[in-house]
Amino acid sequence: MPKASETVLEIDLNALKHNFNFIKSRLHTNTKILAVVKAFAYGSDPTVISKFLEDLGVDYFAVAYVNEGAALRDAGITTPILVLHPQPINFKTLIDRCLEPSLYSPKILNEFIQVAEQKNQKDYPVHIKFNTGLNRLGFWENDVDYIHSKLSETSAIKVKSLFSHLAASEDNNEKVFTTHQISNFKQISEEFSNKFGYQPMLHLTNTSGILNYPEAHLDMVRTGIGLYGFGNSSEIDALLKPVATLKSIISQIHMIEKDETVGYNRAFKSPGFGKTATIPIGHADGIGRQYGNQNGYVMIHNQKAPIIGNVCMDMIMVDITNIECSEGDEVVIFGQNPSAVDFAESAHTISYEILTAISQRVKRIYLNS
Ligand SMILES: *Cc1c(COP(=O)(O)O)cnc(C)c1O
Repeated sequence: MPKASETVLEIDLNALKHNFNFIKSRLHTNTKILAVVKAFAYGSDPTVISKFLEDLGVDYFAVAYVNEGAALRDAGITTPILVLHPQPINFKTLIDRCLEPSLYSPKILNEFIQVAEQKNQKDYPVHIKFNTGLNRLGFWENDVDYIHSKLSETSAIKVKSLFSHLAASEDNNEKVFTTHQISNFKQISEEFSNKFGYQPMLHLTNTSGILNYPEAHLDMVRTGIGLYGFGNSSEIDALLKPVATLKSIISQIHMIEKDETVGYNRAFKSPGFGKTATIPIGHADGIGRQYGNQNGYVMIHNQKAPIIGNVCMDMIMVDITNIECSEGDEVVIFGQNPSAVDFAESAHTISYEILTAISQRVKRIYLNS
């Protein structure tokens, strides 16, 4: 790997390929794979990641919002794209860009039918989302009749898939609840096929669901975090490879005396003679203030350098009193060691949050592309 000479997010496409194949190895050969590339492909690069996955034969993509899907179309992605959380104001764009909406409530269903009719669509593919216990988005189990009556009045849309989302697929203490969600979803889809006379594609599991509930893979699985190298358990993490590595360099080193302070609000007070390094990455790059004041740390020559004082917008200061290092040396914020999980835990959060927080200001570079 090249040494960093500024703040960069390295994206390792070999790691992505490894993770894709690992997930695939856990599936029946007929099960389709939907790659979740929302939020800049979990903070990495949506177009590079999606093109690479398209070449690997991924079956579907999902994004959260219409503008994310439109950006993938602009980049030449032709694979079907499910938009998980669209809003009516964007329905025209959604159809123009051949994106496929998740319809999750009576209001959204009716407004989408209206727009699809205005635009003279026939059998426009839509995905019906059911709420089976997450209580976030979705129709209720007893809405099947209502959906059927609405769809029998129009030929503008056609249901391509039914799906739901697990609330605690990573938590073995919630097996009873999850098993109930799975059976509830199977029941809903049975009722749906009986009413409609055909069975749309069914999908239910996210990464942890794929790993922990093989009986719930159904026709397609939706994987996000697993592709980027994390499986919500240390056993799985050991089998996956992190795609993103966040690196920077030491801009300047300062020697400080006892009782001197470091950074805004003088939040760090030196207990004795010390040495600090200033790193060009701050909260505007995604390193939140919760990592400051010795919660988080970075690695310099494989040694832990705690972040001292408050995180600034464009920099952090770290304690290097006991580390042999020079200005210009490389700094690892997360990657292999510490992993994004370890780094996130230092601020009591999760890998998903730190990965998606890395701002667009940070330069992306690609390995093995
Ligand atoms: C984000 C998301 C996923 C991906 O979950 P991971 O835990 O990252 O695999 C799957 N399904 C839905 C509905 C989502 O919102």
